[in-house]
Amino acid sequence: MAKESSNGKYQSPSKPPPSPSPLRNSKFFQSNMRILVTGGAGFIGSHLVDRLMENEKNEVIVADNYFTGSKDNLRKWIGHPRFELIRHDVTEPLLIEVDQIYHLACPASPIFYKYNPVKTIKTNVIGTLNMLGLAKRVGARILLTSTSEVYGDPLVHPQDESYWGNVNPIGVRSCYDEGKRVAETLMFDYHRQHGIEIRIARIFNTYGPRMNIDDGRVVSNFIAQALRGEPLTVQAPGTQTRSFCYVSDMVDGLIRLMEGEHTGPINIGNPGEFTMQELAETVKELIDPEVTIKSVENTPDDPRQRKPDITKAKELLGWEPKVKLRDGLPLMEEDFRQRLEIPKKK
Ligand code: NAD
Ligand code: UDP
Repeated sequence: MAKESSNGKYQSPSKPPPSPSPLRNSKFFQSNMRILVTGGAGFIGSHLVDRLMENEKNEVIVADNYFTGSKDNLRKWIGHPRFELIRHDVTEPLLIEVDQIYHLACPASPIFYKYNPVKTIKTNVIGTLNMLGLAKRVGARILLTSTSEVYGDPLVHPQDESYWGNVNPIGVRSCYDEGKRVAETLMFDYHRQHGIEIRIARIFNTYGPRMNIDDGRVVSNFIAQALRGEPLTVQAPGTQTRSFCYVSDMVDGLIRLMEGEHTGPINIGNPGEFTMQELAETVKELIDPEVTIKSVENTPDDPRQRKPDITKAKELLGWEPKVKLRDGLPLMEEDFRQRLEIPKKK
């Protein structure tokens, strides 16, 4: 058991977790790095898998229950000798041997995480406990994809990692926000109590190809609406802000965090900040200047502003986003056009 010392710092636990397979120290050991990606059939997860699979020394195992993800996102890897796909719900224990765990499993879009809030909490709490238990048993390093939602409706702007947040504990978004906050707590308790190697990324709004077309998130909504010639639905008042990170930048940040020496939490996001009205106007200009923009009713507890302070990511990970919104949106448009089968106007 870890003890708290007089200066409030935790001493390292007396019994460290088992180190990875003793075979790893053998110079004849041939195996690859085994990496588990929970939620790997989802939007960010599948892009992460693509990047991890580029390294021939990696063996990637995806565990996903396909709630919001799809095998289609992983189509090109199915059958690859270094790839394995398991239909698995993280609220159940998983017994496999791995060296690293990227723990992403959790619906990210408000309409999906509010659909079955009790299940969302179970996924965040029991799911994270199970993955930490696995990390402890096999001595794996584990990275949690937490969220900017842990800052709630922030009273500090931009948000840096020292901010404790302004979260409604009983609202309709709480299953996700508080679920992720507990997941972060569990990560640090396993770290202090059992010596588990942890990494926590606080992800800010991310967009790119493979997002679910009708998942209700703002960028996917606006692009699909513009392509279908429907009005862009700006939820009132439209002055609320978000900062959008292109998915390739996000994946780069997550891998740097996993491979680096810092536990985090570290904000990973693009500090470019836009109001939802500005985002609608940009999508309109880039995709179809003839579409209209209409104001619709908002949902409860919508954060009014959000922008990451990425000083830590820059200094500790040498990371900053490269893709500007105006460059990323056309890449997503192309993917949506293909899936919706809407050719570009001549
Ligand atoms: P996504 O919904 O596309 O992917 C989540 C994946 O997890 C899906 O494949 C889904 O089927 C799977 N999943 C959900 N519940 C599960 C369960 N109980 N067991 C096994 N698998 C389960 O979402 P995403 O945008 O790729 O987000 C990935 C992670 O990043 C999530 O943890 C999310 O909270 C976090 N995040 C994303 C954003 C964003 O803007 N996309 C922002 C902040 C945080
Ligand atoms: N939003 C909007 N129109 C839409 C969907 C969302 O104006 O069709 C707004 C929503 O009110 C919020 C922002 O876009 O202020 C981001 O919402 P999203 O669901 O994408 O993610 P969040 O950051 O709220 O989790």
